[in-house]
Amino acid sequence: MVDEIATDADWNALYIDGEWTESESGESIAVEDPSTRETVAHVPRGTEADVDAAYEAAAEAQAEWAEAPPARRQEVVEQFLQKLREYEAEIIDLLAHEVGGSRIMGETSVQIATDHASEAATLPRRMRGEYVDSNIPGKENIVQKNPKGVVTVISPWNFPLNLSMRAVAPAVAAGNAVVLKPSTNSPITGGLLFAKLFEETDLPEGVVNVVTGRGSEIGDRVAGHPESDVVAFTGSTEVGKRVSGIAGENLAVPAMELGGNNAHVVTEDADVDRAVDAAVFGSFVHQGQVCISINRHIVHESVYDEYVEKLTARAEELPVGSAHEGDTVVGPIIDESQRDEMLGYVEETVDAGATLETGGSTADLDGVDDSLVVEPTVLSGVTNDMAAACNEHFGPIAPVIPFSDVDEAVELANATEYGLSGSVHAGDLAAGKEIALRMETGNVHVNDQPINDEAHVPFSGIGASGVGTYNSDAFLDEITEDKWISLQHEPRDYPL
Ligand code: NAP
Repeated sequence: MVDEIATDADWNALYIDGEWTESESGESIAVEDPSTRETVAHVPRGTEADVDAAYEAAAEAQAEWAEAPPARRQEVVEQFLQKLREYEAEIIDLLAHEVGGSRIMGETSVQIATDHASEAATLPRRMRGEYVDSNIPGKENIVQKNPKGVVTVISPWNFPLNLSMRAVAPAVAAGNAVVLKPSTNSPITGGLLFAKLFEETDLPEGVVNVVTGRGSEIGDRVAGHPESDVVAFTGSTEVGKRVSGIAGENLAVPAMELGGNNAHVVTEDADVDRAVDAAVFGSFVHQGQVCISINRHIVHESVYDEYVEKLTARAEELPVGSAHEGDTVVGPIIDESQRDEMLGYVEETVDAGATLETGGSTADLDGVDDSLVVEPTVLSGVTNDMAAACNEHFGPIAPVIPFSDVDEAVELANATEYGLSGSVHAGDLAAGKEIALRMETGNVHVNDQPINDEAHVPFSGIGASGVGTYNSDAFLDEITEDKWISLQHEPRDYPL
């Protein structure tokens, strides 16, 4: 049904048991290009019956896939990786149309997704059990590492390709089957595209299934399906708590990567130009719609004015506009509600006494009614309790908060329920590392910015930012289970 990967392809079908099928609802959902506000595709409005069919297919296919030798699983993931590379240009184009991803966002997405698929291709040969000595005479202990079964993947819209990839590729490589439910804002690049790529490999039918549809209608069934063994969810903390509860009732393992409110701390001896350089990327790439982007800039009072001035100058230089213009850095926000919420935070922050250094409103786009592009925004004189600082703003907003000593900086950085990522700029790397150690987050980067993701390095959030660890062998542990088999070689001496 889907003949090619292109924006004018027909994406209006679910992928269940290796077949492109209509939704039981017979209805579809429009996909809007956030730059042009035009409908670029339709996808099925999946139902609970569609979800059930996907799990039935996954459970059926998984047993045989788990038995496939490591070389075969590796080969399939490598074929998938090859397709990802082959269609790179089309995928970048799809990301621009579906989620307003600029060229930089598209290229970064494909690079990270490729890294995850490459890492996953090594898993089949690296997955191994253990031989553990026994305290009981004559006993041999063998611990087998087995796939969990069916892995549910629920992904968000902001970086859909790589956030689905980091769960789907390792799950398949380890011998699991997958039911993937992408966000309604990114049903193609977070979902149906995976089916299209896997369809061109030798993956057996039913191992990967994709169901599109609204989370409010089918989400609970997806998260709580009795056939689901792991729920790999990336999204907001609010929805994550609900999903985790539903998965827990079913005793499925929740692997939850949730929201963030990440701090970029700049000490008095930091190289300000370098800190600003990092901050421009960390705050404004993909319009700040990154869970690990800089939400708050926490800057020593002695370099505060210089930092604000330089950051403002850089923000004003950034090319702003449609994601389809090659040089655009700051493109559109995903939809009106996200845009309005973020602009509301800016307004509230200014009303509370902060200074708007630049930005703060939408930028007009030729021929587009009600543009979703928001100007890069810098706010000074911000305190931690103001709206743009205490909320995950998910936009091109840089609230800058002053501090006077390191203890205060750490206290400010940690004064949030979240604990996802962060960064520190310090002239003395050892002092920077000390601050990093005191920051209560899953990831911290010294003399860099918080947006980092490497498939072979563990990635996790703490507090309201999640439970479980993605990437590396840590995620392999989430999607596999250890089975202890003992062989009693000689009669055992029982106490009765
Ligand atoms: P979201 O609203 O929480 O949605 C995430 C996913 O959950 C979507 O696929 C959504 O489907 C689905 N969903 C909604 N209700 C559900 C339910 N009752 N049961 C099961 N699934 C349901 O998040 P978002 O707006 O897409 O993404 C932005 C958020 O993700 C931000 O908070 C960001 O920080 C977080 N994020 C975290 C990470 C990380 O690694 N920690 C990475 C990226 C993003 P629908 O779209 O159909 O509603």
